[in-house]
Amino acid sequence: MYSMEGCIFCDIVAGKIPSTKVYEDTYFYAFKDIEPVAPIHVLVVPKKHVASLATLTENDEDIARNMLFTIQKVAATLGLAEDGYRVVYNTGKKAGQTVHHLHAHILGGKEMSWPGV
Ligand code: 5GP
Ligand code: ZN
Repeated sequence: MYSMEGCIFCDIVAGKIPSTKVYEDTYFYAFKDIEPVAPIHVLVVPKKHVASLATLTENDEDIARNMLFTIQKVAATLGLAEDGYRVVYNTGKKAGQTVHHLHAHILGGKEMSWPGV
C-alpha cells in the first residue's frame, strides 16, 4: 500500500495514530470522525494515499469503482440504510478540505436539511 509521510489518514490506516475502526477491507478503512457534526459521523478512506477527488486518476480506477459500494456497506453496518444518510466529499480549498487524503464523510442519525451549503 502506498502511504505518504506526514499524512494523518495514512498514519491512521497504518495504526500509528489510534482511531475507532468501523470497517476495514483490503482497500478501504472506515473510522469515527474525532469531531462529529452528527450523531453518526464516519470517515471512509482508501488505504492508498490519494489527495482528493480532484487528483484521482485512471490509476485509481479500483478506488473509484469500489468506494461507493464500500460506503454503502459501511452505512448499512451503521444501521443507516433505511433511515438515510448523507455522503460528503469536501474537495479543495473552497469546500474546506482540511485533510488531504481522499475521504468520504458518512453523516446520519439526525434529520437533515437541504440545501445545506
Ligand atoms: P475535511 O474537512 O478534510 O473534509 O475533513 C477532515 C475530517 O477529519 C474532519 O471532520 C476532522 O474532524 C477529521 N479528523 C481530523 N483529524 C482526525 C484524527 O486524527 N482522527 C479522526 N478520527 N478524525 C480526524
Ligand atoms: Zn494519506
